Amino acid sequence: MKILRWRLLNLLIIATLTAVLSSVSFAKEKVYKWKLATTWGPTLSPFIDAPKNLSKMVEEMSNGRLIIRVDASNKHKSAFGILDMVKGGQYDMGHSASYYWKGKDINTMPLTTMPFGMTTPEQYAWFYHGGGLELMQKVYKKHKVLSFPGGNTGNQMGGWFKKEINSVDDLKGLKMRIPGFAGEVMAKLGLTVTNIAPGELYTSLERGTIDALEWVGPGMDIKMGFHKIAPYYYTGWHEPSTELQYLVNQKKFNKLPKDLQQILLTAIKVTAYDMYIQNYDMSAESWSKISTDYPDIKIKTFPKPVLDAMKKANAELLVEKTKDQPLLKEILDSQAAYQKKVREWTKMSDYLYLKDNL
Ligand code: CA
Repeated sequence: MKILRWRLLNLLIIATLTAVLSSVSFAKEKVYKWKLATTWGPTLSPFIDAPKNLSKMVEEMSNGRLIIRVDASNKHKSAFGILDMVKGGQYDMGHSASYYWKGKDINTMPLTTMPFGMTTPEQYAWFYHGGGLELMQKVYKKHKVLSFPGGNTGNQMGGWFKKEINSVDDLKGLKMRIPGFAGEVMAKLGLTVTNIAPGELYTSLERGTIDALEWVGPGMDIKMGFHKIAPYYYTGWHEPSTELQYLVNQKKFNKLPKDLQQILLTAIKVTAYDMYIQNYDMSAESWSKISTDYPDIKIKTFPKPVLDAMKKANAELLVEKTKDQPLLKEILDSQAAYQKKVREWTKMSDYLYLKDNL
């Protein structure tokens, strides 16, 4: 009797163990396969590196449970259609710049950068501690999309011109590629303004579709070859802190388990920061060789009357564009108030340090 009970107990243990083991080996965890569309071409470093690094990071951190395929613009053929594709669900995520769809939703514009606005550390402080991130979600809520900072270019150069700009009159009539609010400012000063996808910038300048353009800074500009056609390279005023952006389809995000949501959010933040410092390094490297390798490039700063005219046009446009646009006004007021506060500290810290140590 004892032996029988012992055998029965053994059988029970074996059966339980088998059940547990088979549940472990057969209950494979769900794998989420996502697609991300970017505005950038497949080799456009460092912009394309942010989503590529994100994809690698989430796959490793999730042990293969979240896989994100990155499609560059040559694949989906819609460099400026990222918001629509994420909104419509053709893509789960996007990587682009918010001001590219100001024509569809004006409130998206100031979430990238504003002429004469905040510098990169100032703007990151606004996003993460000054209410910026909340305002960004407020803007994208109606598109059923979440939006996050996606990497910053730092202060951008003012662009490439075929001739020297000595007065506001020299600007009048030029056809220039310049996006965002800066494009509105230039239009007010008499330029014909357009936005062109990154992959078509050089040929547009070469064919004369445009006379001038701005892109980013030396790290990304010089290898594009703009200097061969337009050698006057101006310092910046218009994009002091261009933040790229990750977009996430809200419904798809809600379907992810909590741990994968956190992995994704962490990877978004880390890869955005990595892109910022990668671009800073690329520009520093490129700038260190500019006078020896490219002696024909003429580095210029816009004369004060031109900068004053830009500032005046900018101030007038801010009043004009915020009429009947309460959310746009709320964002711009929030940025202006934060800039006023944070700039006092920037002056005391970085500005005084640099002024005395250049
Ligand atoms: Ca730019």
